[in-house]
Amino acid sequence: MAVKIPRTPAREQDPAARATNFDEVCYGYNSEEAMLEASRCIQCKKPRCIEACPVSVKIPQFIHEVLGGRFAEAARLIAQDSSLPAVCGRVCPQETQCEGACLLGVKGEPVNIGKLERFVADQSMSSNLTFAEKAAPNGRRVAIVGSGPAGLACATDLAKMGYSVKIFEALHKAGGVLEYGIPEFRLPKERVVKREIDNVRRLGVEIETDVVVGRTVTIDSLMEDEKFSAVFIGSGAGLPKFMGIPGENLNGVVSANEFLTRANLMKAYDSRYDTPIYVGRRVAVVGGGNVAMDAARTAKRLGADVCIVYRRSEKELPARVEEVHHAKEEGIAFHMLTNPVAILDADSGWVRGLRCIRMELGDPDASGRRSPVEICGSEFDMEADVVIMSLGTSPNPLISSTTPGLERNKRGCLVANDVGATSRPGVFAGGDAVTGAATVILAMGAGRTAAKAIDEYVRSLNACP
Ligand SMILES: Cc1cc2nc3c(=O)[nH]c(=O)nc-3n(C[C@H](O)[C@H](O)[C@H](O)COP(=O)(O)OP(=O)(O)OC[C@H]3O[C@@H](n4cnc5c(N)ncnc54)[C@H](O)[C@@H]3O)c2cc1C
Ligand code: SF4
Repeated sequence: MAVKIPRTPAREQDPAARATNFDEVCYGYNSEEAMLEASRCIQCKKPRCIEACPVSVKIPQFIHEVLGGRFAEAARLIAQDSSLPAVCGRVCPQETQCEGACLLGVKGEPVNIGKLERFVADQSMSSNLTFAEKAAPNGRRVAIVGSGPAGLACATDLAKMGYSVKIFEALHKAGGVLEYGIPEFRLPKERVVKREIDNVRRLGVEIETDVVVGRTVTIDSLMEDEKFSAVFIGSGAGLPKFMGIPGENLNGVVSANEFLTRANLMKAYDSRYDTPIYVGRRVAVVGGGNVAMDAARTAKRLGADVCIVYRRSEKELPARVEEVHHAKEEGIAFHMLTNPVAILDADSGWVRGLRCIRMELGDPDASGRRSPVEICGSEFDMEADVVIMSLGTSPNPLISSTTPGLERNKRGCLVANDVGATSRPGVFAGGDAVTGAATVILAMGAGRTAAKAIDEYVRSLNACP
């Protein structure tokens, strides 16, 4: 009987040390570890892992190359379907996608596909390998709004088809949430994000930053004046939600988006930059998703005592198990079944704490999760001088409100069909702008699907008499 090899763990920075720095938490695999983990893949005839990957990376094929030590070939295979492998290898929720479907996971532990992808991508970056070959120009131009994963994936596929692609980005740096949201200790900016975006640029994709579509230009002016044949909107969901409780406009209350943008994009954590961030001594982060974990772990690294305040129980936490585990290891306290009802004023216009109420779980709601119910008379106060609200985000209405005929739904998301076509001919959309806050890989999948549809649409224009 063949000996079962256990899943190969990836080395990580010591929790006590990493809670005080912004260096990457996970070190990833070395060659020996990667080849050992690759040997666990049984090369299924009908690989369920590929079916579960929104961009259909050729998983068993690339793993086979890793096993043989042919890392460059593995990287070439991945590059056929993903423009951001070093990013995805780090932040994709593999446990609910490829690894969640891996056959080995039925009776044991799935192959660590994420860490293998990351290893291959990092190897190819350190060997300066690129697989960006410019296609022969087809004479057609496509504009893309937003340089997040949706926009970058759409741009990559269109550029490979010969389109002249220009991305318009509102911020001064490209990458969307990869650049301004996910912290450096999970996703290094210069070493990973910038290098993968540079690969997209090598295909001929132009990225113009500091252009707010809906203000600097409009979708109509791009199509009518600048003669783009089609537009893809990948503008994300960057508008934060608040609770609407008393005291939310006090100094010291901030959305997780703003907090993380100041830390990541404006490098507030780096003493060489003159864009500081107020953290205070005690920080309460309200919410239980990945964004809440990122905000909490960032505040911890900036020197605060940090707690998470979440209205359901640990079982319902929407954050990845790995993120919760890392946050706990780093000393973040968790107050479960607790909900703020007011933010308290220190009589100076600044926050002094939170008034919370204890909750219990009632019947399941529409999402299938048991809904939290207040326990009458259980209010108590909690000290905090900064409160970070991490309650989800929705798309900014700027583009829909400045583009006549562009439909959006009740949640403020753009309405698009399965291939990304919106209510306006020639205007496509995908990623968080359509689904609301989701994941990097789903945004990339939507960008790739829309690229195919855009190509068909533009060809149909050519076919018209
Ligand atoms: C803190 C945080 C942590 C996350 N962690 C994970 C994770 O670990 N794993 C995971 O899979 N997902 C994670 N996500 C979710 C994931 O990052 C998003 O689902 C994904 O980035 C969506 O991609 P997108 O391209 O649709 O939008 P975005 O990444 O939001 O990019 C949109 C871009 O459009 C630009 N833009 C917006 N409006 C305009 C305009 N009017 N004109 C020009 N440009 C505009 C924005 O500046 C931005 O650069 C996280 C999100 C956050 C906020
Ligand atoms: S499902 Fe798992 S074991 Fe099967 S090919 Fe994919 S990674 Fe390998």
